[in-house]
Amino acid sequence: MEAEIIAVGTELLLGDILNTNAQFLSRELAGLGISVHFQTVVGDNPARLESVVRLARSRSDLLVFSGGLGPTEDDLTKETVARAFGDTLRFDGEELEKIRAFFTAWGRTMPENNRKQAMVPEHGRKIPNANGTAPGMIFEDSQSPGKYAVLLPGPPKELRPMFLDSVKPWLAAMSDSALHSVTLRVMGIGESHLESKIGDLLQNANPTAAVYAKTSEVVVRITAKAENDAVAKRMCLEYARNFYDRLGDCVYAQDKDSLEQVVVEALAARGLTVATAESCTGGLLSQRITSVPGASGVFAYGACTYANEIKQKMLGVRAGTLAEYGAVSPETAAEMARGVREVAGADFGVGITGIAGPGGGTPEKPVGLVYVAACDGETTYVQRLAVTGRTREVVRVSATQRALEMVRRLALGLPQPGCAAFAAGQPAHWTDTQTSARDA
Ligand code: AMP
Ligand code: MG
Repeated sequence: MEAEIIAVGTELLLGDILNTNAQFLSRELAGLGISVHFQTVVGDNPARLESVVRLARSRSDLLVFSGGLGPTEDDLTKETVARAFGDTLRFDGEELEKIRAFFTAWGRTMPENNRKQAMVPEHGRKIPNANGTAPGMIFEDSQSPGKYAVLLPGPPKELRPMFLDSVKPWLAAMSDSALHSVTLRVMGIGESHLESKIGDLLQNANPTAAVYAKTSEVVVRITAKAENDAVAKRMCLEYARNFYDRLGDCVYAQDKDSLEQVVVEALAARGLTVATAESCTGGLLSQRITSVPGASGVFAYGACTYANEIKQKMLGVRAGTLAEYGAVSPETAAEMARGVREVAGADFGVGITGIAGPGGGTPEKPVGLVYVAACDGETTYVQRLAVTGRTREVVRVSATQRALEMVRRLALGLPQPGCAAFAAGQPAHWTDTQTSARDA
């Protein structure tokens, strides 16, 4: 089935609001195995809307509309689509009572122009709206049965539940097969390197597997189609094994949303704690950890230490280290990690120091250079990142992402690829063999 999405609303063309409905619908349709070939935005203009509908109807089996179902004169999606699909609208008294009740529930009387929203398809069907007044609707093309137009209200808080509760099951039932998806999250292998390792796995027809990159991680989404959900799920899990075989412990999560969630769960399951000392990330790491429910059981202390004197006073970083190697150095990152671990009495310590930019870079220490250190009582691991050509925000997120990944590996007793290791008490002197920066 080939689909397209048509968002109606002049406010979208003016840039007043972002077309988040198109993104939501595209993702959902892709998850159902329905190919979306076009996304269109058109203003509240009858002639232009009609030409868009005519073109879409000529080339797609499923047209999904968002917006233009409101009570005002310029909301004319359903009139236009009804005409193109050979249907008419009729007044629905039952629908009007629902709309009236919606207003009454909010202690208001219904304006007369809301009667317009009680117009529903003669042959097509209406879709109940649990969160607003405008019902959605489905038209079937009178000339080409099996070709549909689905009309959804513009406000995302109405559109999303209506799609998920009514439209999605209808589409899934039509395809008469079940779809299941499993999401794997991968850290520590760049997207291009990843393609060479798993490229062939992305060519499969069923299950399909697709990758998309996020800041410092890659997401693999496996989707299987089968006669029922249990079979589709089993196919996904079986196919996922190929990825585990090739990527090993770089797969950090399956069907989980965030690395911080995985880290907090890994620490909690083993009764371990972590403390953090941050310079260029200014508390972002502690913010990410503490955003997870249950963080208080595993997070001991988070220090935001910018000034050199504070690094010395609070973390015991040595004046000689700062003078000799500078604040942005592996030596300083290591002493920050060891210091904060000591102060907090935690199992693990983390130190982050770097140059987030846009200013402050030098030829030897360019913007985007970050050292991340993580230690337990015995070993300090240090990683050097070169997040070049990126914004301050990307540098900061990448640094915390790497730090979280190092803590995950400490908690699980996994090796620390790409890191230099230093024994407790040993300065984290960087030698040439350890300087190869990794892409962030
Ligand atoms: P409408 O159904 O056209 O009356 O739209 C009502 C409201 O829904 C608009 O004022 C927007 O706030 C919101 N909206 C409409 N279309 C979209 C869209 N494509 N993405 C996100 N929000 C939208
Ligand atoms: Mg509108």
